[in-house]
Amino acid sequence: MTEIAITRTATPKQPPADETLTFGTVFTDHMFMMEYHEGKGWHDPRIVPYAPFTMDPATCVLHYGQAIFDGCKAFRGKDGQIRLFRLKDHAARLNRSGHYLCIPEIDQTMVEESIRALVEVDQHWVPKLAGTSLYIRPTVIATEAFLGVHPSHSYLYYVILGPVGAYYKEGMNPVRILASDTHVRAVKGGLGAAKTAGNYAASLFGAEEAHKAGYTQVLWLDGVEHKYLDEVGTMNIMVKIGDEVITPPLNGAILAGVTRDSVLTLLRSWGLRTSERQVSIDEVLAAAKAGNLEMWGTGTAAVISPVGELGYKGERYVIGDGKTGALTQKLYDTIVGIQYGTEPDPHGWTRLLGNRIGG
Ligand SMILES: *Cc1c(COP(=O)(O)O)cnc(C)c1O
Repeated sequence: MTEIAITRTATPKQPPADETLTFGTVFTDHMFMMEYHEGKGWHDPRIVPYAPFTMDPATCVLHYGQAIFDGCKAFRGKDGQIRLFRLKDHAARLNRSGHYLCIPEIDQTMVEESIRALVEVDQHWVPKLAGTSLYIRPTVIATEAFLGVHPSHSYLYYVILGPVGAYYKEGMNPVRILASDTHVRAVKGGLGAAKTAGNYAASLFGAEEAHKAGYTQVLWLDGVEHKYLDEVGTMNIMVKIGDEVITPPLNGAILAGVTRDSVLTLLRSWGLRTSERQVSIDEVLAAAKAGNLEMWGTGTAAVISPVGELGYKGERYVIGDGKTGALTQKLYDTIVGIQYGTEPDPHGWTRLLGNRIGG
């Protein structure tokens, strides 16, 4: 693997106090960059001071959205060790997203090492306070300057880092979600399985409508029949009906969440019945009315987000008295325990920052 050249900043910033951290507003001193040009491949991997880019106004990503990203985290444990959570899986997904967007593959070891090496350079930015972490955002954008719809001949892969605050400062609080029977996020055969900019643009209008109606998130139903659950906000959705935990299958319309996989793996290891199958809004509403429903979203930012209320066609359905369910809480506690090194990690999900990847 090509060596990563490191240029350190001459003007390091003071990281903010852990207590003041929120999400997505503060970035560290350095970033990783590497370019692709047709005929030359990916080249010049380097860590440089965090700084703005300049771009030709005709750069195709600005017009046609050929862009992918991922999101993962590093945690400082009670033992002071920094752990990267499921780095390999996030690196693999970045390339899977790239595949859907005709973006040339990046050597998986280079993706992992770009992140590990950058976190190492900025490791004093990994916050210490319980629940805080360092958010990692690998991104690939098409950089050719042209107007016309075809895959770009050049790309930029970059990684930025930012310390983020605890998602739940006062215990888990269940969210209120609105199932949309008008707006859709993605359809089978589209880009739903890729972490790509356009999917988030597509979600804005529906999300604003939900906010206006007093809900936090949209429960996205399938794009064809508006009948089956797809995702919630930017999370995967799971429901427990009776003794069965159900989550929609990876059918091309939804993202293959790493947290979704962590939860399924834990549930199976605990001997619980899990199904990756379509689940209709009617089945969920019937379970809610029968008091037989637990519901939560899964994603890197919140880990687990309990759902306390569901709106649909002008009706409101309270789930589990609006409180966090027992299984929801157990899943959250277990994953967070693994991330901070207070629980055993039988599935090998964490790696210590220490050793270089690919030796
Ligand atoms: C990132 C994301 C998720 C969650 O994926 P994780 O790997 O668990 O963070 C789910 N759905 C969408 C649309 C996402 O963008």
